Amino acid sequence: MKVPAELLALLRKEDTFFIATHVNPDGDALGSALALSLALESMGKKTILYDRDGVPGPYLFLPGHERFVSSAATDGLPVVILLDCNDRKRSGLEGAAISFSAVIDHHETARDFGDIRWVEPDAAATGMMVYFLIRELGLEITKDMAANLYSAIVVDTGTFRYSNTTAEVLRVAAELVDAGADPQAIAVNLYETWPEARFRLLLMVLNTLEITDRFAVTYVTREMFAETGTSPEDTEHFSNFPRMIGTIAVSVFFREEEDGWKVSLRSRGEIDVAATAQCFKGGGHRNAAGFTIKADLETAKARVLSALSRSALAPSD
Ligand code: 5GP
Ligand code: MN
Repeated sequence: MKVPAELLALLRKEDTFFIATHVNPDGDALGSALALSLALESMGKKTILYDRDGVPGPYLFLPGHERFVSSAATDGLPVVILLDCNDRKRSGLEGAAISFSAVIDHHETARDFGDIRWVEPDAAATGMMVYFLIRELGLEITKDMAANLYSAIVVDTGTFRYSNTTAEVLRVAAELVDAGADPQAIAVNLYETWPEARFRLLLMVLNTLEITDRFAVTYVTREMFAETGTSPEDTEHFSNFPRMIGTIAVSVFFREEEDGWKVSLRSRGEIDVAATAQCFKGGGHRNAAGFTIKADLETAKARVLSALSRSALAPSD
């Protein structure tokens, strides 16, 4: 992985950075942003950490998480570094005046935002890219940086189970453990701290399961959130469960929003759901992608399943 020289020069030259990530942030978004912020501050720089939607409960263990702010001045920002997305709309910064920006991202669906763009679709996580960036800057990886980067990589590789888990990923993970990341504590924080209400919501969602051909459909309504006292951030990972069924090619999870549905797609192997998400103006990775759709549930289901039958199961070349 080659860090662009112009990105290194920018980070060395400027004094203040506005580090932003995508809306509905996940562990890779938050962990990579935090690690970069800690690294730049260790060089004596000032950083503002921004994520429009705050830090979801499950990530409140990440060292430094309390430094995230969820509002941005609209009258001119310092140099913006956008992590884990490359699309201005996904950053939640549509209204802000941005004079210079750099993007560090690993999504396949590339938009054209960013004066400097470092996009590596083959990187397992943005956290991997930030790891190489920090090393390239010649900085020491502290325990807090290591915990953030390790968490980012764990989340985006499904704890080293997905096809993006390479020998290099495992080598970097090992270095992060050497630098102080605690795999067991991080796994417990990520996966074994659910409030009971979240588990009750999962039970309801699993009960909505319908299987059509090789597609599994589940959904969550706003009424279910109200009934269990949960919120949309509690549904992270829900879309992965139906993929446990060996005969399923794609898991489709619908989450009700004010004026439509947020759709999460999870596939296995060569089945490319990023392509399907792109048909609906969304994006993501080959095996994990998403988009929103404004329609009632039955119409949304029919449209998504028909798009999947046409594209996702088509033989790839
Ligand atoms: P999730 O289903 O967990 O929300 O997202 C899966 C993957 O697809 C993530 O990499 C996420 O960044 C991407 N993704 C989800 N929703 C959208 C969307 O509406 N637009 C774009 N461009 N990417 C999305
Ligand atoms: Mn990511």
